[in-house]
Amino acid sequence: MTMQTQMLIDGRWRDGVDSERIDVLDPATEDLVAEVSAGTPADAVAACDAAAAAQPGWAAAPPRTRSETLRACYEILVAHSGELAELITREHGKPTADALAEVAYSAEFFRWNAEEAVRIHGTVSTAPAGDKRVITRHPPVGVVAMITPWNFPAAMITRKVAPALAAGNAVVIKPARDTPLTALRVAGLLEEAGVPPGVVNVVPTRASGDWLDAVVDHRAVRMLSFTGSTEVGKMLLRRCADRVLKVGMELGGNAPFIVFADADLDAAIEGAMVAKMRHSAETCVSANRFFVESPVHDEFVERLGAAMGALKVGNGLEPGVECGPMINASAIASIDGLVQGALQNGARTVTGGGPLDRPGFFYEPTVLAGVDPSSPITREEIFGPVAPVATFDDTDAVIAAANDTEMGLMGYVYTTDLAKGLRVSERIEAGMVGLNRGILSDPAAPFGGMKQSGLGREGASEGIYEFCETQYIATNW
Ligand code: NAD
Repeated sequence: MTMQTQMLIDGRWRDGVDSERIDVLDPATEDLVAEVSAGTPADAVAACDAAAAAQPGWAAAPPRTRSETLRACYEILVAHSGELAELITREHGKPTADALAEVAYSAEFFRWNAEEAVRIHGTVSTAPAGDKRVITRHPPVGVVAMITPWNFPAAMITRKVAPALAAGNAVVIKPARDTPLTALRVAGLLEEAGVPPGVVNVVPTRASGDWLDAVVDHRAVRMLSFTGSTEVGKMLLRRCADRVLKVGMELGGNAPFIVFADADLDAAIEGAMVAKMRHSAETCVSANRFFVESPVHDEFVERLGAAMGALKVGNGLEPGVECGPMINASAIASIDGLVQGALQNGARTVTGGGPLDRPGFFYEPTVLAGVDPSSPITREEIFGPVAPVATFDDTDAVIAAANDTEMGLMGYVYTTDLAKGLRVSERIEAGMVGLNRGILSDPAAPFGGMKQSGLGREGASEGIYEFCETQYIATNW
């Protein structure tokens, strides 16, 4: 396993201008995995300078050249799947099977965008008055700053970098402090695959605010693409207003998971386990609130409790582990605070209910029944292996409850009545709905949220246009 611990600026691996380091811990053991160079504002500026110098040449390359380079990036990521998955598990903790799935998903963004790179279409039309031609085209934004979270150390980077590069941009990435190793290794592989020096730069840091200030104030930077919490996203939006930067915002979720009495319960349990537990339950699209129609509520709770209680928890590198550690100690404190709050409000524990007493940051897979809708656990992202279940009898009421949140990223609906399922799905205020499906992420589909869950979409055909401007040229001929 290759571990890159220096930052990547202008195609060169180097330490920061001072000797600051970031300690990367294995959350399963709390052991030190590596010390990574921590960038200062001066390093961030150097990365933006490098991106600004490299971007015009990359944008001028024929779309076919960019396409083929992206295809080579796809191939190299796939060829290094095992190594990348191990790195992800070492610094994030997720089980190897989830880490491998993440690498495959990450690589697919390069394959998809290799295909899209040659299909960035403009238009030509005649103005209604007949006095001119309206020509539109989509040049790249230029230099894009990217800030990513720790929960998908590879995918949250490639979902941005692949479309940005396909459109002809250069990028400066700040990976999360907990998980910089995967980002650095991915960037190294992209260069090996033929991405020119300076087009992809990675500068981890311990001082996110200073990094942000340096990058936002850099004249060449024209966009900030962020994935992370709504709280931080709002702060970044305010800061980006200073230079009217274009933004992409993939923010927090609070997904409802609705099970109607006519649902296929086997499928609903399977979907619930995937929607709740994949990647150790640390995803923005995790089912956060379960609503089960009363005739099937008790059976659903019992079966979900049995399935959650049977999960093998442990170090993600060990064979057969299905739920790894949480990312750090503060995650455990936050999850447990929500669980204790729900219990104080009258919920009952079906299975689990607390942290595991062992080294590392482990929390028992937990099911809570009878959760009061006013409990903080229904308002906040749990970001851990806890499934709070409530019951319902009325469709309008459950839709109102599902939408009673400022978040709008994802919703899940289970019913065998497809017409009802579609009607309910259309009324869920979320950018994405899984109808009888617990997993729906796909590079060919638009990923993103309504309400305070975000601005813009990643993936699909529209994902690439997020990293483009629209220019209109008026002419007569
Ligand atoms: P976070 O908001 O705490 O951090 C995200 C990134 O922002 C990190 O790199 C962090 O260092 C950086 N950051 C924090 N403060 C900053 C500042 N002042 N200036 C500049 N950068 C700053 O989120 P997290 O804990 O890393 O990730 C979990 C959150 O991400 C959850 O809310 C989850 O829902 C969300 N998420 C959303 C999506 C999506 O696609 N919508 C995907 C994954 C995660």
